Parts: sequence; C-alpha cells; structure tokens
Amino acid sequence: MSERLIRIHVVGARGRMGRALIREVMGSEDLTLTGAIDRSGGPGQGKDAGLIAGMPEAGVAIDDKLSPKAGSVVVDFSLPQATDINISRCVGAGVPLVLGTTGLSDASLAHLEEAATQIPVVFAANYSAGVTMLIHLASVAARALGPEWQSELFELHHKHKRDAPSGTALRVAAAVAGATERDETSFVYERASKDQPRSAKEIGIMALRGGDSVGEHTLMFLGEGERLELTHRARDRAIFAKGALRAARWVADREPGLYDMFDVLGFA
Ligand code: NAD
Repeated sequence: MSERLIRIHVVGARGRMGRALIREVMGSEDLTLTGAIDRSGGPGQGKDAGLIAGMPEAGVAIDDKLSPKAGSVVVDFSLPQATDINISRCVGAGVPLVLGTTGLSDASLAHLEEAATQIPVVFAANYSAGVTMLIHLASVAARALGPEWQSELFELHHKHKRDAPSGTALRVAAAVAGATERDETSFVYERASKDQPRSAKEIGIMALRGGDSVGEHTLMFLGEGERLELTHRARDRAIFAKGALRAARWVADREPGLYDMFDVLGFA
C-alpha cells in the first residue's frame, strides 16, 4: 500500500470511460475519488458517482463544474468541447491533468502546450500500457532486424468500428517506418488490384472487422526461414482506465511539461 492517497477528479464521469475510471479508482488502494464531473443537465446529475459506475456509494455526487483542489489529479475522458475550460481550471488550481479525450482541435492542442509550461500534463491517444509497449517494440525490432525483413500488420476490431485501419495500426506502422527511414507513402492497404510482388519498402496493413473484439494488432517481421510476430489483444476498455490511472500516479509529483505514455512507461 502506498504512503499517501492520490485524489482523483474524473471528468466525463457518466461516460463509458468515466465509469471505468471510477471503478478502477474505487478498487485501488492508493487512489481516492474526490470529484466526478459531467456536463450539466444529463441523467444522473447530483447522483452518487459510485452508484452510477455500478459500485457501492462513493460519497461523491456527479457535479457539472470542475473545481480541483491542490494536491489532486484531474483525469479527463469527455468530449473536445469540454477540454479548454478544463485545461484552464487545472492551470488555475495548479493541478496535473491526464487527458484522454480524442479529436481535439489545433487550438485546443496549442492551449494544452501552453498549459504544460505551468502544470504537468499527460496526453496520449491510447493509454493502454500494452499498446504503448507494442509501438515501442515495433520501432526497436524494425531498426534491429533491418531491410532484409519485411513488415506486415493486421488488426481486428468489432463489427461496428467505422474507421479502417485503426489509429493504433497506423501508429504501429509509423513506428516501423520511422525506424527504417520510410514514411506513410510505404503503407499498402490492398493488393488485389496489383499484379506484382511486394516491393522492398512496403509495409502492408490489413483491417479485419467482425464480432465484438475490442481490438487486436499483430505486427509480423518476415525473414528468410523465420518469422517474428508481436501481438497485442485488448479484452476490455478497463485497460485504458488502468493506463490513465498509472499516468495519474506518475504525473502527481512531476514538474510542468507535456508528457505521453512513453514517458510514463519510462522509455521516452
Ligand atoms: P462517452 O460518450 O461514453 O462519454 C463521454 C462523457 O463526457 C459523457 O458522459 C458526456 O456527457 C460527457 N461530457 C460531454 N460534455 C461534457 C462537458 N462539457 N463536461 C464534462 N463532461 C462532458 O465516451 P467514452 O467512450 O467514455 O470516451 C470519452 C473520450 O475518451 C472520447 O474522446 C474517446 O475517444 C476518448 N478515449 C480515449 C482513449 C485513450 O486511450 N486516449 C480510450 C478510450 C476513449
């Protein structure tokens, strides 16, 4: 058990990620829930955050205004419209921010960079420790194995997912490309229309869709007489909440700066 409890404010508390965060905070021994914030007027306003998340009472009501106290950490997985005001409130209170919301505007990203000169901020498109590690290993392996090995990547997601390939697949492919002096012009998404063997510089990316898979990514390095595969399988959204709270523990005592999950895992 850690020496002190870290106080966590969850923004987007009624959402899928917000509820997963509340469950993880309540299930931990070193974190305590001190704020649960969601937009005003929605269902559950004023209700106990623990009950909303399917847990016992937390003694914290869902509020519509973030007012973090010094010594706490704000974990925001809500919507881009909420980001600017919450950044300003964290700066005003001098508390660290762990931001998971995706789809931020360029103006909000600039605001975040400015805020990070005054408070510590962790911002990551994917808080899974396993995915972060996969991207890191992709880069290390591609660099070490060299151009004689071909890289091919496939990903599998549930039948409702609209975008293909996944953002994570593109980041894994970008890590391979960046480590081997290539860029996204090497990415090949289909071969049916081509009547030719693959070129040496290609990185093949294939998207499979069906069922209820939260997300699987396999990167293959194909050599002469051997093959290396790196696979990550996500089973539930709790992995993002666990990663974000790992970031919250890590950032609680940091100097101001803009950090990501590579910093949190210690290999930036
Ligand atoms: P969701 O729609 O289930 O929840 C969003 C919540 O934010 C809702 O409860 C909504 O009422 C609330 N909200 C809206 N406006 C608000 C405001 N002004 N102030 C406070 N709360 C507000 O969505 P979700 O699946 O929980 O995802 C939330 C965000 O997290 C999305 O941007 C998603 O892309 C992102 N996400 C990031 C990661 C990652 O690893 N970085 C992982 C999963 C999801």
